[in-house]
Amino acid sequence: MYKIALITGDGIGPELSESVIDVLDVINDNLGVKVEVTKLQAGDAALKKTGKALPDETVEQIKKSDACLKAPVGESAADVIVVLRRLLDLYANIRPAKSYPNMPALKENIDMVIVRENTEDLYTGMEFEVGETIIALRSISKNASERIARHAFATSEQRDGKRKVTCVHKSNVMRKTDGLFAKTCEQVAKRYPKITFEHMYVDACAMNLIRQPESFDVIVTTNLFGDILSDEASQVVGGLGMAPAANIGDRFALFEPVHGAAFDIAGKQVANPSSFILSAKMMFEWLGIKNSDKSCQDVAKKIEDAVYGIVKDGIKTRDIGGNKSTKEFTQNVISRII
Ligand code: ATP
Repeated sequence: MYKIALITGDGIGPELSESVIDVLDVINDNLGVKVEVTKLQAGDAALKKTGKALPDETVEQIKKSDACLKAPVGESAADVIVVLRRLLDLYANIRPAKSYPNMPALKENIDMVIVRENTEDLYTGMEFEVGETIIALRSISKNASERIARHAFATSEQRDGKRKVTCVHKSNVMRKTDGLFAKTCEQVAKRYPKITFEHMYVDACAMNLIRQPESFDVIVTTNLFGDILSDEASQVVGGLGMAPAANIGDRFALFEPVHGAAFDIAGKQVANPSSFILSAKMMFEWLGIKNSDKSCQDVAKKIEDAVYGIVKDGIKTRDIGGNKSTKEFTQNVISRII
């Protein structure tokens, strides 16, 4: 039995959470993997109700779980996810961008993963006022750069892909910080002679994600660049509604959609639940590897095949050119999982 903590979130978060709970119920009842879901509060609604965007009780429950699923939260996102990443040392943010059939995509045959360093860079919140100027501190360490580089090479090794790691930075301008990141990745690359290694400046990468996205396998980059490039990559393959993500540490992991709370479509049953359902798929993959549990890998494959199959048959939500509601889409996924 796997204990899963589920943060239901804000905006479209609760709708997406219902979809994921329905999918997990079906897995629990029909496949060989048992899960027990505990719903938790965090985000804007939690802040209003409890005075804390990330209540202590939520953190305690997450720590007692095998994995955490997190729906998007609203304005208080920085007080929830950025804090959780630090508290649980979830140093690797894994954001796949993969082509699915029948998508409003810029290009096809894309299968890449962005491995984003999750704990430092400009996201540590070190901002200071000096007169009328604000100074933000950017920290990049050898240790954090090394472990994210190792994670990127291991990811490329595990994938059935092009066996290439592209290290994205701007070391020609940020010579010290990105210089260290680039040099450290280069050193780690020497331990993986079978994997092609290349450097790319972030501006060139932003361009190449549009021009030749199919040429990428694994991109490894710092926190802010990874945040921006992964939104871009998800748009190239069909939009945020199809974009899952994982935050992985050595002991724990949290899975969440790439997108935010999307208040503009909240409560309308038009949100695409694929981003969260595919995040659950990434969770089962991780549980499978961590616990050497093949049945989790099988569940992950079933989820992936179900989503792939229904969009291939043209069953889609509005954001990807269809007319199915969140619930209808979810029911179609479920009917293919069983
Ligand atoms: P954040 O800054 O927290 O990432 P944001 O304001 O940039 O959030 P998102 O909430 O990430 O915006 O989403 C941008 C837009 O993409 C939304 O306004 C919505 O229209 C669309 N969108 C995002 N997620 C989905 C989804 N799951 N299904 C359908 N449309 C979505």
